[in-house]
Amino acid sequence: MNGNKSRSTEVGFQAPEQARVAWEPQQRPGADLEQAVQMREASGLSGESLLQHMAQSPVQLKEGDALAPVQMEEEGAENLPQEPSPAVRVRNRISDPPYGWTSTYDAQVTDSDVRINVKVKLLPQAGVTEEDIANVDRRATAAFINKFDNQFVFSDGQHEFPVRVNVQFVETGEHLSVRIHAGNRRSNLSNWALEAPDETYAHELGHQLGLLDEYVDAGATNRADASGAGVHTDHSIMGNYHAEGRRAAAVRQRHGETIASHVGSATGHEFTVRPRR
Ligand SMILES: [Zn+2]
Repeated sequence: MNGNKSRSTEVGFQAPEQARVAWEPQQRPGADLEQAVQMREASGLSGESLLQHMAQSPVQLKEGDALAPVQMEEEGAENLPQEPSPAVRVRNRISDPPYGWTSTYDAQVTDSDVRINVKVKLLPQAGVTEEDIANVDRRATAAFINKFDNQFVFSDGQHEFPVRVNVQFVETGEHLSVRIHAGNRRSNLSNWALEAPDETYAHELGHQLGLLDEYVDAGATNRADASGAGVHTDHSIMGNYHAEGRRAAAVRQRHGETIASHVGSATGHEFTVRPRR
């Protein structure tokens, strides 16, 4: 739940970040191949030495370029070394007035799937033990994977990519910091209660993937009552699963489309989405 208004100001509203995502050479296959050919011709480098060289000279793109659809180079692609694309940072400003937050995670498009990884640092608050933290780690991982992993298949028109998700609890390099509170208080993206149900951890990590709350909230412009455009009562993991049933709570097509749009923009793909089943 992201229902605490004071928390939303705590994160601080920032300018849209999408266009400032750093691009690395392999993230834009067309430019990558063009550059590889030019460099190979110019330098005579090949194989590993070529890749090392490329890693030191990233392609610089203008801001607007990040928004343009990117087409795969077809001709000659099979003659060049096929390296898996690196993981890309996906970062978007999410708005559900008056709430707002930044969604950040890593995504990698491989030959066979799309891999999403969220790195979270847990910050124990008063009365929270190491064992409690290990417990949250275990429960949140299981719940997130249960609700989000392998639920969607992305397609770029040529290939299909099952969408795999994972959460990694880290000490450094986190995408999200979460304060862990003893007892049972209301949780939100960056404050989790020890006694919250497992599904709440999955729900909060859903926000980190850029998904909005979908339950009635008198303070939210689009969800002020049951007729609000942002309200959904279809057993959504982002909705009122406390009332509708935690076990039945699931991701929906609209969630897959949000994730596909964000991952696609960051990796230079135009994805369509279907449910896995
Ligand atoms: Zn929420």
